[in-house]
Amino acid sequence: MPSHQETSGYCLSHISPRDVHFDKLRANAARFAELYRGTVYDAYADRINDCSTFLEFVIALNPDTGEQKLKLKSGRFCRVPRCPFCQWRKSLMWRAKTFKIIPKIFEDYPSSRFLFLTLTIANCPLDELRSTLTHMNKAWKRLTERQQFPAIGWIKTVEVTRDKNDLAHPHFHCMLMVNPSYFTGKYYLSKDDWIELWQKSLRVSYPPDIDIQAVKSRTGANEGMREAVIETLKYSVKPSDVLSDRSPTNRISDQDWLVELTAQLYQTRAIATGGVLKKYFKELEAENDNLEDLIHATENLDSEVMNSSVSLFFDWIQYRKRYVASSKARSFT
Ligand SMILES: [Zn+2]
Repeated sequence: MPSHQETSGYCLSHISPRDVHFDKLRANAARFAELYRGTVYDAYADRINDCSTFLEFVIALNPDTGEQKLKLKSGRFCRVPRCPFCQWRKSLMWRAKTFKIIPKIFEDYPSSRFLFLTLTIANCPLDELRSTLTHMNKAWKRLTERQQFPAIGWIKTVEVTRDKNDLAHPHFHCMLMVNPSYFTGKYYLSKDDWIELWQKSLRVSYPPDIDIQAVKSRTGANEGMREAVIETLKYSVKPSDVLSDRSPTNRISDQDWLVELTAQLYQTRAIATGGVLKKYFKELEAENDNLEDLIHATENLDSEVMNSSVSLFFDWIQYRKRYVASSKARSFT
């Protein structure tokens, strides 16, 4: 890895191709800012435009493999709830912290197993999203209070996507922690059982779509567990669903979609935890907007040696849609 004097003028994605997503996320943020401009959320446009325009990275070395990587050291984030850049850092932060928590959970509950559950409801008009989510949350509470509900702990996240008819598709992704006896005993629930339970909890006349899978892990360290965490703790709103570049046949413009979505999701909770898992996430839920966490929201920091004396600085150049290495260091103070 070169020093910042040697990289001046080079793009982040050239110096570190694995970090090309920084460009993509920041370009999406700029498009969100354009959509907010001139609407009731005009102030968000300014805040997002100032988000992550300057980033400082340090070089991290993996002592086992000798591999060098760039790690974000500092940056300024806007924390606008739907900002694609901030949402991405936040989901990375939750994942990184969850990966750290998992070994503790398995230490305390060595035989526990996990299920990955997706719960849906009939798609709704966007202006009914808020009331639909309230209804789903009440149904979730009823579900967890049912005698058949097998989980001793859970993490639940909300995702809202946009269907081809411009309806909102709100759904829950849940990781459920169960005792191993769930798989062998009389409390085992088939997919049909889950559909029935969720239908009763929702109090609807139709069988809702659900998906249920057992996470194939007994140790908490394998791929199945990782995938379940990544699937659960992802974006609540995919930028690609807002920036749809839709055909003229669509009734709702991307701008109208984003503005209404922002209003509907105002101060709704994206992540909730319960049961025995609550205590592990308590600290995380309390400080989930911590700036340090948004910066250091990456995995495996423990095994890497940070060389913080060598910094690389990048400016966001909007017309190039790239982070470009800057010749000068700057301070955030
Ligand atoms: Zn932001």
